[in-house]
Amino acid sequence: MKSDIEIAQETETSPISDVAAKLGIPERYLEMYGSRKAKVDYNYLRENPSEPGKLVLVTAINPTAAGEGKTTTTVGLGDALSRMGKKTVIALREPSLGPVFGIKGGAAGGGYAQVVPMEDINLHFTGDFHAIGAANNLLAAMIDNHIHQGNALGFDARKITWKRAVDMNDRALREIVVGLGGKVNGFPRQDGFDITVASEIMAVFCLSTSISDLKERLARMVVGYTFDDQPITAGQLNAQGAMAALLKDALKPNLVQTLEGTPAFVHGGPFANIAHGCNSIMATNMALALGDYTVTEAGFGADLGAEKFLDIKCRLTGVRPSAVVVVATVRALKMHGGADKKQLGDENLEALEAGLPNLLQHVENVTGVFKLPCVVAINRFPTDTDAEVALIADRCRELGVNVALSEVWEKGGAGGAALAEEVVRLCEQESELEFAYDAEAGIADKIEAIAKRIYRAEGVTIEPKVLKEIAKLESLGFGKLPVCMAKTPASFTDDAARIGAPRGFRISVRDVKVSAGAGFVVALTGSIMTMPGLGKSPAAERIDVDETGRIVGLF
Ligand code: ADP
Ligand code: MG
Repeated sequence: MKSDIEIAQETETSPISDVAAKLGIPERYLEMYGSRKAKVDYNYLRENPSEPGKLVLVTAINPTAAGEGKTTTTVGLGDALSRMGKKTVIALREPSLGPVFGIKGGAAGGGYAQVVPMEDINLHFTGDFHAIGAANNLLAAMIDNHIHQGNALGFDARKITWKRAVDMNDRALREIVVGLGGKVNGFPRQDGFDITVASEIMAVFCLSTSISDLKERLARMVVGYTFDDQPITAGQLNAQGAMAALLKDALKPNLVQTLEGTPAFVHGGPFANIAHGCNSIMATNMALALGDYTVTEAGFGADLGAEKFLDIKCRLTGVRPSAVVVVATVRALKMHGGADKKQLGDENLEALEAGLPNLLQHVENVTGVFKLPCVVAINRFPTDTDAEVALIADRCRELGVNVALSEVWEKGGAGGAALAEEVVRLCEQESELEFAYDAEAGIADKIEAIAKRIYRAEGVTIEPKVLKEIAKLESLGFGKLPVCMAKTPASFTDDAARIGAPRGFRISVRDVKVSAGAGFVVALTGSIMTMPGLGKSPAAERIDVDETGRIVGLF
């Protein structure tokens, strides 16, 4: 079997300027990065506003080590819609270097459903994340300089919340001390690095609809507190203009294409735990304006990714999906039903049946809570047996759940015809998105609504010190913001080991913090790593480049 990178490298694609021309984008709005990648100037949309097409959201069951294939399905569905003659555009996140060199590998799809050039997309692409890191670190430098120059704003150095950032898995940078070396080097204080995708700037970048919106959001970011606990913002340091200057090109959506030539914007990539986990609204809006159908992906499972896509991104930007695809695999459902990871290749109908409630709860949330039309995509793996695929399809149909088999990994867009037809049918239906909670409710009530309605928890336990923090955020005027849940993706609960569809549990909120620029309050339900580490045998040991500049070993 060929690897993803082998398939990607042997497939001939047209120049990206042709792809842009097919979309009707005049050349003067293109900024070329070689012949296969281009940034599209946001002024194109400002000068040529157009009626948005239909939006299709791809999400999944709770992820397991077996892999679900959301990106693969998003790309393959886009190709299948193109094959049906629909003018389709895909919108995806940019991969972070951390997971590429760690264990996850790339994030450009798989098999015959990939976006290309996958090597470039996976390996710092058009440099957006470096620009975001630079903007982040400019702000960090301005904070320490402000204190060094007399600290007119009154920073309490123990309560600086702004960290430095780099796009790399580097555990050695999690906790550091800066300012050592005497008076000329500033005031020593404890600091740390986050991976760039966990920086609030990444979330701000992905929710900004224009340069002026970007600047306003950057200015609102809280970077620390004074001795009497008053927030200090990036705007008080006058940092927003220079940060936006560093980000002005990064903010232009990156255009690439699938192996079958469907246009794809790959732009922005916030974490799906402490942030909202989907590509930039600039890219989504551009895709919607250019295509009749836009297919986009939300990170992790539907309890995190889709919930935030709907309750945060849709609420803050006004975009609305017409249909939702919930990706499930036989292998992952067998794990949710208790099967051993090493035996996923063997047929096991009992485990599969036992794992189905996980899928069904996600579907019920989409249709019952958010009131959106939904189809289950069974992402077929080579090891799945016909009996296993039939079991999922039968059980779903018995419960009135739409289901379509997807073989896009093996066959490209041709393997997604049934899914595409169902998606088009769903997009014709009238629907009105309902949110899981009312933004006007208190912060604790919003957390409880998500926990009870989406996770099916019995309730939420909030420690007294966190209740105090919630009261503080509400008194500072952050109470009406949507809530961004930072929770393990592996489970509906806050315990990664509790797979399936658990009942009789409570969600414990360990901390809350405000991302005032992004425009949400983050509720942390366990220890969330904002700077991952590399494993014992990281993928970095196997990635190489030959004399001609061809990348090998990326997956
Ligand atoms: P997600 O977006 O849910 O994280 P991806 O689409 O990135 O998942 O897929 C994860 C990995 O699984 C990729 O390496 C991809 O090639 C592989 N994969 C996805 N679908 C299939 C499939 N049907 N058969 C075999 N491998 C698959
Ligand atoms: Mg993905």
